Amino acid sequence: MSTALKAKIAEVFDEPGCDKNQAKSGNERKKGCTKQLKPGAAAGGCAFDGAKIALQPIADAAHLVHGPIACEGNSWDNRHSSSSHSQLYRCGFTTDINEFDVIYGGEKRLFKSIREILEKYDPPAVFVYQTCVTALVGDDIEAVCQRASEKFGKPIIPVNVPGFAGPKNLGNKLGAEALLDYVIGTREPEFTTPCDINIIGDYNLVGELWQVKPLFEALGIRILSCIAGDARYNEVASAHRAKVNMVVCSKSMINIATRMAQRWGIPYFEGSFYGIGDMSDALRQIAELLVQQGAPADLLDRTERLIEVEEARVWKRIAQYRQRLAGKRVLLITGGVKSWSVVAALQECDMEIVGTSVKKSTKEDKEKIQEIMGLKEDDSAHMIDDMTPREMYAMLRDARADIMLSGGRTQFVALKARMPWLDINQERYYPYAGYEGMVELVHQIDRTLSNPMWQQVRIAAPWGA
Ligand code: SF4
Repeated sequence: MSTALKAKIAEVFDEPGCDKNQAKSGNERKKGCTKQLKPGAAAGGCAFDGAKIALQPIADAAHLVHGPIACEGNSWDNRHSSSSHSQLYRCGFTTDINEFDVIYGGEKRLFKSIREILEKYDPPAVFVYQTCVTALVGDDIEAVCQRASEKFGKPIIPVNVPGFAGPKNLGNKLGAEALLDYVIGTREPEFTTPCDINIIGDYNLVGELWQVKPLFEALGIRILSCIAGDARYNEVASAHRAKVNMVVCSKSMINIATRMAQRWGIPYFEGSFYGIGDMSDALRQIAELLVQQGAPADLLDRTERLIEVEEARVWKRIAQYRQRLAGKRVLLITGGVKSWSVVAALQECDMEIVGTSVKKSTKEDKEKIQEIMGLKEDDSAHMIDDMTPREMYAMLRDARADIMLSGGRTQFVALKARMPWLDINQERYYPYAGYEGMVELVHQIDRTLSNPMWQQVRIAAPWGA
């Protein structure tokens, strides 16, 4: 690993916005937050993958992967981030290096690829991603990007995050570092307002940002930049003029918020758009911070009025499902911040959470789950640290749960147990953010539970009766 990359990783691990990190000793901090993987365990994405996930939603930029074609194939559009404008981010650009490039170096090929993209597509910027093989053969993507920027007069941004640097979550942070080093603060917005905000860590999965954007618009709050869902390159470059930052996905891009607070004095808070209560809290916190930053004081009253109207409306719409869903038992297998936000949302519909995974959750996430579910600290029956597919299967087969909400990787466990399953992870096909998203989640749970297919698949086969 290059010295520059090592230094960058050390910088990212010393994160003032992360309480867990700050509680560690200097030596422990250097080791980072990654648990050593067991041989044979699926790693869940490499650092390059994480950086690509974080940056690819910048929709009008070109994203060029310098490496073997499989790296691009592995990471291409695996989050269903939506764009309301350019579709260029969906083009899979790769240098597709071959044996000769491994022997002689792939820098020339990279330079030519950048030129070809600029000539054919004329994007406002090109992000160039390092991968394991090109890092190992010593290709200096930073030097190539600098040369190309000078020659072509466009921002060419190196994202020096090869897969071996660590896991996906570290990749998110290192991708964010590339934005801090090369993008944010390099442009000025056409105009500013006292109610400009940035949303950090939202990737506009299946259009979730569009479910909350109308709420901000109703309050006169402008999303100056969303990093990076549905983003335009120039918006991200001028994000430093926002008055408030909201960090959506817990710790994955907290470094952007902390560095922006240090460099430009922009206050930030961590919030969630999942769940009715959380959505209202997010609106309140944004309004309070904006007023502290000089926005008109009546914003607070207007926010409260909007919350009142929206909450009344959403409860009315959910009420029709509440009767059908009350008492249904849910097994929730997801990770990190999503656990507590989804737990709160489901409890709002009187559903019973029979277990939730806390494998990827931070200490604060676990505390929040305990608080919401009213659990004791060591309640391992409800807060599952690690559940093998066999245990999951047994739980579903014994009908200790009526439905499992999880990611695509565990769907076949539920299907094998002939139990309803709904995808709520990043590969989901329905948006669950904001008030609107809660109605959608409840609607999808209801649809899944009442699908007549389950009765049919549970009937014993004539030859097995
Ligand atoms: S681990 Fe390396 S080779 Fe594999 S996808 Fe990630 S960057 Fe590419």
